[in-house]
Amino acid sequence: MPTILIIIKYTHIIRLIDILIKKYISMEQVLGHIMLNKASHLLVMALSIISSAADAQLSSVPVSSPPQLQTSLQYGQIGVAQVKSQIALKVVLQPFTTGLLANDLVHFDPLPGNLVPDEHGCLCFPVDDDRFAFVHAYYYATAVIEDYNILLSELNLPTVKDVLIRLKKDQSNPGDDSAHGNIIDATFYRPAFDYTTLGHEVGHIIHFALKGPPGPEPEAPTSMEVDAEQQGIGEGTANLLSALHFGNPVVQSLDAFDAPVQSIDTFVRYPDAMISTRQMMEGLRDAAVFSSHFPQFHQSIVDTLSSSDPAVKNYIALPDPYLSSSIINQPLWHAANRFGVRPVKLLYLAAIADLRTYTHYNDLAKKLLEKASPEIRAFLENEFVLRGLLAQ
Ligand SMILES: [Zn+2]
Repeated sequence: MPTILIIIKYTHIIRLIDILIKKYISMEQVLGHIMLNKASHLLVMALSIISSAADAQLSSVPVSSPPQLQTSLQYGQIGVAQVKSQIALKVVLQPFTTGLLANDLVHFDPLPGNLVPDEHGCLCFPVDDDRFAFVHAYYYATAVIEDYNILLSELNLPTVKDVLIRLKKDQSNPGDDSAHGNIIDATFYRPAFDYTTLGHEVGHIIHFALKGPPGPEPEAPTSMEVDAEQQGIGEGTANLLSALHFGNPVVQSLDAFDAPVQSIDTFVRYPDAMISTRQMMEGLRDAAVFSSHFPQFHQSIVDTLSSSDPAVKNYIALPDPYLSSSIINQPLWHAANRFGVRPVKLLYLAAIADLRTYTHYNDLAKKLLEKASPEIRAFLENEFVLRGLLAQ
């Protein structure tokens, strides 16, 4: 029952806010964070402040939930602050309803063995233990899907459920993640992978639920430029849904490896302020720490950049789909900061569901304006025109 899940989660958030107010920070700071971030983000923030004393406080603070709900609580650890090093934090996991680390929304196959909670009911494992990554992925994937399912239901759009995550450790590359149908294939190279990467892949699943996976579009022109935009609408949707959920415009943080950070808050304008796939790859090629961590992956980038194959040369000269989509996403990110995250999430889901195809940025911009409230429309229109969209 979704309502029960929400009650459990919010009870704990309120309890943590209570601890926070009493012991560490002012009400203004807490309220500021509530306004800026969604609740799960606040939970992480709260836990990071109280982490050293979390165990004792979580078990000693009285709660208002009925006892029968309390008995079903299951704790686990997730990894945060992964930029330079990982910190493990204890969180309340969403109830398991269909199996271990499984509910109606998410399950894993295969699961690592010996997933046994400690005497406090916590699935707490060392950060370099693969089981840690599974608990982390369960927590974040469930949270993102729960968040968007509420909005999709409000819009009478299809919701997401039964997502299978096939998670594997692979230290040879910075992450090989893809989504197809209802399945996410993900690799992680460090204790637990970047939560924004998981948010991105869940974003694809939500997009597929609304539109189906991208495929040949007979009614659209088939030039390579258009294909790059179609791809950009797919990758841009995944980036935006992740960024709006987490309140973080960074969608891939490889900065621990001195590599370029990808953010949807990037200025892109047609035709003169673009970022090509070649430029993105050159940034990775030239990041020394990155190349020493992932030598094989680095070599594949060098090989691609020096390829003499005309198809490869043409493709990498095109706008990079992950960052060129900031032509749409940066205005939406700023609209979310100005008018609120929730109306922008609702607007984007309604627009993308209503689009006929994976299409041009211009069509998406027009659809967003068609669906937007007057104040958001006025803001977005100005931003899109500034970026060379809506010209004709
Ligand atoms: Zn993607």
